[in-house]
Amino acid sequence: MNIHEHQAKALLANYKVPVPRGTVAFTVDEATKAAHELGGSLWVVKAQIHAGGRGKGGGVKVVKSIDAVRDEAQKMLGMTLITHQTGPEGKEVHRLYVEEGCAIARELYLSLLVDRSTGWPTFIASTQGGMDIEEVAEKTPEAIVKVAIDPAQGLMPYHTRKIGFALGLEGTQIKALGNVLQGIYTMMIEKDTALLEINPLVVTQSGELIVLDAKVGFDPNSLFRHPDIEALRDESEENASEREAAQHELNYVKLDGNVGCMVNGAGLAMATMDIIKFYGGEPANFLDVGGGATKERVTKAFKIILSDPAVKGILVNIFGGIMRCDIIAEGVIAAANEIKLSVPLVVRLAGTNVELGRKLLNESGLAIQAAEDLADAAQKIVAAVKGAV
Ligand code: GDP
Ligand code: MN
Repeated sequence: MNIHEHQAKALLANYKVPVPRGTVAFTVDEATKAAHELGGSLWVVKAQIHAGGRGKGGGVKVVKSIDAVRDEAQKMLGMTLITHQTGPEGKEVHRLYVEEGCAIARELYLSLLVDRSTGWPTFIASTQGGMDIEEVAEKTPEAIVKVAIDPAQGLMPYHTRKIGFALGLEGTQIKALGNVLQGIYTMMIEKDTALLEINPLVVTQSGELIVLDAKVGFDPNSLFRHPDIEALRDESEENASEREAAQHELNYVKLDGNVGCMVNGAGLAMATMDIIKFYGGEPANFLDVGGGATKERVTKAFKIILSDPAVKGILVNIFGGIMRCDIIAEGVIAAANEIKLSVPLVVRLAGTNVELGRKLLNESGLAIQAAEDLADAAQKIVAAVKGAV
């Protein structure tokens, strides 16, 4: 689960990480009022969306007057911001963050995540911070340092020195960096962050370190123990179908193809997507209905799959182990009747009572094609979808 920059900064401030003063604003008036109250002579107006790359897309403006704050707020609120992380459809801006500006001497990169290969929390740092870190990683990977932290030991002064020297910091700046690193490390451990990315971490012209941008994501499986983090969720930033699926304990991920998939078990779902592609089709989604493929869940799953207008056919691939195939077939038939299914449906069942399940499907009077095996099912749905377009 991701949160907004202003929420991330508020959390970081609780861990004594230095961030600029700022105020969140939902209207133009709130934005100008915020600038007045912050005072000073330099402000930054920042679009709050769950995606980076805002600077290049016109979502971050450094301005020198309150009138300019008003103008920029006017332009940004309601605009569709397109960045390399939003996809071509972009994201609508509903909230802004107005901050005091700062005089930047250098822009650094700093992030903390769990390195999957070692299983250790790992800092990634670079002197080449700012807006092009992806390019730095690709073209000059030597400009990036990685420092892994043994979780049993925690952050040690030598870690800080290693990162500090790599970032070209000296004297009191190393001490300041130590506080930043300790703050974000403690935050990761306490709040179960999956990604904590600060880009840029800046050195100001007076030599101070300050976090100018922060992107923070949390492990969704940990949210049950962090109601304070769960409360930061902004549902308008999330995919509506994926959110609805999650509420019904369905694992749904929308994809770009036109073959809807309903499968029980994540591994079987992956295999189903693979075989659809093998026979020349494109899956429209990943969907794991879980162990208890009851009528209610199957109906919900159909509705979610069909809410995607790209879907031209559905493949149901369910293994009846604990749940018997005839019960699953009854669920599929009842669900197909209830939602008046209008696209081709291929069903492949395997497991306990499979013969009875197939018989029920064949005698249902619905336009359901029962498949013999997985290859047969994939070929049938790919052919049906080709016929539909
Ligand atoms: P992102 O493009 O979504 O990553 O947004 P950032 O918050 O990182 O802002 C993009 C860029 O705007 C930064 O890399 C800075 O160069 C610039 N910027 C942000 N805040 C300030 C500021 O207070 N003063 C100045 N001079 N530049 C800023
Ligand atoms: Mn940034």
